[in-house]
Amino acid sequence: MRLPTKGDDPSAIDEAAATDILASALDAGVNYIDTAWPYHRQASEPWLGAAVERLACRDRVLLATKAPVWLINEPGDWEKHLSEQLKRLRTDRIDFYLAHALSRGRWKTVVETGGLEFLAKAKADGRIGHVGFSFHDSLEAFKEIVDGWDGWEFCQVQYNYFDEDYQAGDEGIRYAAARGLGVIVMEPLRGGVLARVPDEARRIFSKYPTPRMAAEWALRHVLDRQEVVTVLSGMGSRDQLRENAAVASSARPNAITKDERAILDEARAWFGSRMAVPCTNCGYCKPCPSGVAIPGVFRLWNDASIFGAVDQARKDYAAEFGSTGAGACVECGACVPKCPQGIDIPAALRKAAAILS
Ligand code: SF4
Ligand code: SF4
Repeated sequence: MRLPTKGDDPSAIDEAAATDILASALDAGVNYIDTAWPYHRQASEPWLGAAVERLACRDRVLLATKAPVWLINEPGDWEKHLSEQLKRLRTDRIDFYLAHALSRGRWKTVVETGGLEFLAKAKADGRIGHVGFSFHDSLEAFKEIVDGWDGWEFCQVQYNYFDEDYQAGDEGIRYAAARGLGVIVMEPLRGGVLARVPDEARRIFSKYPTPRMAAEWALRHVLDRQEVVTVLSGMGSRDQLRENAAVASSARPNAITKDERAILDEARAWFGSRMAVPCTNCGYCKPCPSGVAIPGVFRLWNDASIFGAVDQARKDYAAEFGSTGAGACVECGACVPKCPQGIDIPAALRKAAAILS
């Protein structure tokens, strides 16, 4: 997902540099390689297939890719996409196949287009090794999907020390593991912001006697969870690969000490104190009759405020919130009494727009 590119075009993967990273990953003991249909504007899967062939390492890697559920409108679309992905990856078997980015809405699509029957059949005929889903929605939706089919073998969730209660969160991870699902964590560094923390947060980490990079703190936190079977971190250079692999090699589940936990708690509290708006992403204000993605907008505003990543938040806001941004609010006030945090949502949206637009 974050391979080096030649210039700004995400599809122009720097094939030599990216293959070099893959070779280094194999040398470091990495054996799970995750891609998806849309990564690098659909150039990721074909690059990976070619690189695995070039390195003659197919028997040493587990390939994971995902069905683009948003492109599936009818039962035949499942077959169409899996066949194409097998071709792109130059293989006859995808070891881990996920329904990509399930939300409640996309779960409905999976069910209504015969996705579950298709996944079971593709597993039975050997084209898929293990079946799972990646997830972006509320904890309730997560539980519904976990319980909705007994064919799931694993799930992939966003999790890091700042987002312990976001989406599936702590509770969701425990819930899935208790039902026999392997849990794969994505975004352990929250898109990189937990690796590039402000000086104040660095000072908190520097209280620990052994110097550690901010990214190491974040990775150790996730690797400490015994339910987590693997952690995905997009790496764009060999240095990042080496650093992450060194942390993963030495981290063990349930190994974080009380002192380390206290430092992580302090860092989390410090980040929390910089929130622009006390939105917990509970979603009680949804749906807005005018279509405003209220928690999504607040999350980006908080990202800008907490991590100082204003440029990135503005880019994400422009890309993700066209007609669902703060500007769509007509100040009807319907959402205000529903917010358990007592946020004056229309006023907060005005302020968010001033920062993000
Ligand atoms: S006040 Fe704005 S955000 Fe809230 S429900 Fe009305 S239009 Fe939607
Ligand atoms: S109800 Fe309030 S706290 Fe919950 S998502 Fe909406 S704005 Fe955020």
